[in-house]
Parts: sequence; structure tokens; C-alpha cells
Amino acid sequence: MISVNNALKIILDTTQTKEISETVDIINATGRILFKNILSEINIPQKNNSAMDGYAVIYSDTAKASHKNPVALSIISEVQAGANYSGGAIKPGNAIRIMTGAPIPDGADAVVPFEDTEEHQGSVKIFKSFEKHKNIRFAGEDIKKGDLVVKKGTRIDSAEAGLIASLNIDKVEVYKKPEVAIIATGDEIIELGSINKTGQIVNSNAYTLYSEIIKYGGNPVYLGIVKDNIAETTDKIKEAMKYDIIITSGGVSMGKYDFVPDVLKSLGVEIKIEKVRMRPGKPVVFGNIGSKLFFGLPGNPVSVMVSFMQFVRPALLKMSGAYKLKKPVIGAKLLEEIKDKSGRKHFMRGIYSIINNEFHVKTTGDQGSGILTSMSEANCLIILPENIENVLPGEIVEIQLIDHGEI
Ligand code: AMP
Ligand code: MG
Repeated sequence: MISVNNALKIILDTTQTKEISETVDIINATGRILFKNILSEINIPQKNNSAMDGYAVIYSDTAKASHKNPVALSIISEVQAGANYSGGAIKPGNAIRIMTGAPIPDGADAVVPFEDTEEHQGSVKIFKSFEKHKNIRFAGEDIKKGDLVVKKGTRIDSAEAGLIASLNIDKVEVYKKPEVAIIATGDEIIELGSINKTGQIVNSNAYTLYSEIIKYGGNPVYLGIVKDNIAETTDKIKEAMKYDIIITSGGVSMGKYDFVPDVLKSLGVEIKIEKVRMRPGKPVVFGNIGSKLFFGLPGNPVSVMVSFMQFVRPALLKMSGAYKLKKPVIGAKLLEEIKDKSGRKHFMRGIYSIINNEFHVKTTGDQGSGILTSMSEANCLIILPENIENVLPGEIVEIQLIDHGEI
């Protein structure tokens, strides 16, 4: 049995990024991973422009202005946002009425906001002095021509969508999503919506996995349920071989009918992990054939989700081109006593809250690996290190923020 950290290292070392791209409209690019660096071909802003509604002036004209002794300047023109001023350089004693975003007329080197002025019959009184360049936004002050604006491997979120659009770029090259096959195993497992005889269990794992795969940048493909027999399991996994990642749920424990590891081996999968010192999720199986990854996850609904989060998610992210693979882990003050004699690293479902600017955490209650309600209530996983038997209230534990973006 290996540690969680070693297992993750083996998985990420085996995972290759799928270097295939497709082009999408920026409007459809949210959540996609950028395939190439985006460089700017323009300055942003493109021209020096006003940050305020007011008057463009020569700053030294305002040097002696005060409330008691305002300086009067003659208004010679007006320039609106989107317009150009073509009247030549502004001269001392003059002011040009200017709107936010309008280009700064030649010669002007400050903008006096309306609120510090009083206009009367073609002349404006200025009530205070202004420094050089006050209220001017300079060309290229946000982005300079040639700047690297968004890095390859970045997940496109709202800010990136706007940023890329501001460069006048309407299409982006993104990584093609990995195709991820989902197979459920188990004689007792039935399809959602079928007639339920006593004792049968609806295949909820497929839905948990489907949702996780979508969230983390994969294209899920659901291949159905196989019975606990070697022939059916073999045929189904063979059918799944054309996908990038193959995930099975169930059939990896020590039970008489847990065939998944043997089937994977018989199909030529190089098994690199068979058990991990973790709870829940101990029987996780991982292997590969070239760049194809195989994950045999346990069947229990919580185990499947926790093991997906710790192992499949970072692998899927890496394969899909992302460079941020980890959920943040921070310290939180425990609100209750925790006991654990398993000796394994324990991922407990937790609920954190912030009290007086400090993270606090409690468990969701019963930590049985079949209790999926615990995953729904949880907003974090409490990570109890190996061989810690109990932790007291007030002690600091590590929590993994499962709803936070990767860092
Ligand atoms: P296994 O790992 O095959 O021994 O499965 C352990 C337990 O997980 C089973 O007894 C079921 O209660 C549950 N289980 C297995 N597969 C699924 C599934 N696809 N959906 C929901 N529960 C499942
Ligand atoms: Mg089973």
C-alpha cells in the first residue's frame, strides 16, 4: 500500500497533456484551457485619454489656483469619448471640455474634474492646483503591444474572456477536452429510472462522475453497467479503450466478485497502484497503456467521489492542458473531537465557517463511505494525516477547499 502523496506523484508522472487543439469563439470559451500564449498586438488603452469628465488643461496653469483665488481659463473646445480633437496643441490660459475616455488633446497634461470647477460664459474657474498627468490614462498603461496577456494553460474565466475580447480577438485556440469513459460494475447496480427489485442500488456513481468530469474539463461518455463477471467486464473495458481516460466504479475490493484489477491486467494495462493508504478509497487501482489512463475506483458513493477528487481530477486537469492542478489546503480550528484508528490518511467530509476572520471546521457527522449526503453537505475535506488517532477541539487541522478553484 502506498501513500496518497506517492500515488498522486505516480499518477501525475504518468499523465501526459493531450497536445491537440481546437478553435472556439471567445463567447464559448469559458472554462476552456488556452492552448497558446495570447500576446497583445495593440496598446491598451490605445491613446492617452481622460479618466474623468472635466477640462483638459496645462497643469502649470493651475499652480496658483485655490478656493479663494480661483484661476480662470478660456474654454476653446470640447472633446467627447470616441471623438478626436483636431484643433492643434492647447495653449496656456486655455481649457478644453473633455469626457471620460476621450483622447487628451495635444499639449494638455492634466484633467481637472468638473467638481473642482465652475463654468460661466465660456470661461472656467478652477479651485485647486493639479499635478502633471493627473486624471490621464496613458496609452499602454494596462497592456503594451507585445505583452504576454494570458498564458498557455490558463483556464478562461470571466476576466480572461473580457481581457481577450479587449484585444479585439474573437476566437481562441483551446485544448481539446479529454474523453472520459465511465463504467459501473456490480450485479446489484441498476440504471436510473428502471424498476427496482428489492435490494438493488441505482447507479448514482455514474452521475457523480459525469458531473465531476464536466466540471474539470473532460467530455464524459457513459458506457453503462456491467455485471460482476469477467467476460462482460472485459468486453466493456475493451469498448472503452478508444477514450483517453477510463473510469470504473466498484469491483476493486477484496470480494469474491471484484474482477476489475484482473481484467485490466489481462488487457495489458500496466497497473501502477493497487491500494492507497487512505480512507475512504483504499482499493483505488491505477494504470496506463501509453497515454491512456485507467482508474478503478471503489464502488461506495463517497469513496468514488473522494478518490476522483484526489486522483482523477488532477490527472484530468493535467491532460486537458491546465497548469493549476491543486485545490487549496489551509489550516482550520477544529470544533469537535475526531477519533480515527485506521492509521490511513483520512479525508473526512467537513463544513468550514469563518469566525472572527479565522477558519473553523466541523465534520458533517457520520463518515460512513456510503453516506453521500455527507458529500452534499460538505464544503471541504478535513485531511487527517496517517497515524493520528485523535484530534481535540481547538487544534488546527488541514482542510482542502473543494469548491475553490485550483491554485
Ligand atoms: P464494490 O466496491 O463493488 O464492492 O461496491 C461497494 C458498494 O458501493 C456496493 O455495495 C454498493 O452499495 C455501492 N455501489 C457500487 N457501485 C455503485 C454505483 N455505480 N452507484 C451507487 N452505488 C454503488
Ligand atoms: Mg461491486
